Amino acid sequence: MRQLYIDGEWVDSESSAGIDVVSPVSGDVIDTVPQATDRDVAAAVDAARRAQTELEEMTAFERAAVLDEVTDYFEEHEDEIAEGITEEEGKPLHESYEETEYVIESSEDYAHDAIRLFGDVVPSEWRDRFAYTQREPYGPCAVISPWNFPLEIPGGSIYSAVATANPVVFKPAEETPLTAYHIAEAFAQSSLPDGAFNLVTGDGDTGAALVGNRDIRLIAFTGSSAVGQEIAKTAAERNAQCLLELGGKDPIVVLDDADVEHAADSIVSGSNWNAGQVCCGTERVIATEGVHDELVDAIVERTEDLVLGDPFEDGVDVGPMISERIQSKARAHFDEAVERGATVRTGGETDGLFFTPAVLDDVTEEMDVATEETFGPVTPVLTASSYEEAIEIANRSPYGLQAAVFTDSLERAHDAANRIKAGGVFINETNNYWERLLPFGGYGESGSGGRYGSKWHLEAMTQVKSVMMNYGGTE
Ligand code: NAD
Ligand code: MN
Repeated sequence: MRQLYIDGEWVDSESSAGIDVVSPVSGDVIDTVPQATDRDVAAAVDAARRAQTELEEMTAFERAAVLDEVTDYFEEHEDEIAEGITEEEGKPLHESYEETEYVIESSEDYAHDAIRLFGDVVPSEWRDRFAYTQREPYGPCAVISPWNFPLEIPGGSIYSAVATANPVVFKPAEETPLTAYHIAEAFAQSSLPDGAFNLVTGDGDTGAALVGNRDIRLIAFTGSSAVGQEIAKTAAERNAQCLLELGGKDPIVVLDDADVEHAADSIVSGSNWNAGQVCCGTERVIATEGVHDELVDAIVERTEDLVLGDPFEDGVDVGPMISERIQSKARAHFDEAVERGATVRTGGETDGLFFTPAVLDDVTEEMDVATEETFGPVTPVLTASSYEEAIEIANRSPYGLQAAVFTDSLERAHDAANRIKAGGVFINETNNYWERLLPFGGYGESGSGGRYGSKWHLEAMTQVKSVMMNYGGTE
């Protein structure tokens, strides 16, 4: 049984209850982590609360230097971390390396931007007054993360919380807690004050205990919209700040004048990256009538070329899904669509946790696969009779994470970028897209409370204080 990391020490949970970590690759139990109790969580939050002053008294430069130390650890252990991600999550090894490298590289951005969180000098309405703003931490921060990017998702929030002096209690997903031990080890070996980073493992009950703790003032949650909304309700009772990154049903719109080959490449990559288990994965394709047939053929051809198999092997594009629970939802969406008249152009067979990448044509908005998050390697194609209708379909969703449009028309590109309601719109690029300095986050039920990524992330983790000095001593 692994331990918890609280107040600068590796400690046993007060309970002997554990969670077995099962590799989706081998099916074996690869480790067991504690199911942290309410008292374990309270101890971690208390340590975070006590570390607040020391963390705040460090300069921004000193806190940024801690991120460099953490990055050194990640660089030294890169192979171990990447292999660990594949073992516990099931994604192809090259994806795990990309994830690890992304975190290493983006730590430089967080460190760079954290020492440049400038305030404003504000012109006063009155004589002899000097007014300015500065950014300050909220206080102890809960970082709660999902299993699909076990390093990248918590990494950004932990970096930005620590860099802005919010002490962290990190609760990773119960499916992939082992990568979290690398994060904890990196902070344990750094010069961060004790208590400024804590790790508690466990399932949603542990997460709920953390969210329910009154001393937690900031919650950086990434996961499903349903859980995010529950968390926001609890947080509202004490006005704790939430940064929520939630689910999506992201579209790629392909117009008649698009480069079909390029659109198909982008769709197939967007739908099947991490076996489709990505918040901003391509969940819907909306094709206008003139391009539809050629596009679907091109998507099918590329989907059939994907290699399904052992994610540790070279050349494998798609590994197993994370669990039966996640797979069965994708399966149910696929089956319901077929029952309601969708055409299976390829794929859809399951074998253990493997799901053969699938393309469904003749999909309509009556089908779950067109409206609810499927989170699997399924590409549903809807047909629009016009550009206008394509935009309407794209926007007919409570979600709005990231969308894409393929077109050769500059006018349509700008018009669509303005009209699509999503946190990101990409022209002639997959919607399953992120890069270091571009903010990441959702509209509508896909998120709230700010953005992930570089300075936006740091801003989301801080509140603004106004300071005014009356140096004239009158009025
Ligand atoms: P989930 O909501 O089931 O779990 C996420 C985390 O919340 C886990 O650590 C879990 O233990 C914890 N949790 C569960 N119940 C809780 C509760 N009541 N209180 C506090 N914590 C609780 O999500 P998942 O299945 O692990 O991940 C998949 C979902 O995450 C998908 O909907 C996906 O779109 C979303 N996601 C969003 C982003 C984004 O950036 N917008 C990124 C990745 C994943
Ligand atoms: Mn979950």
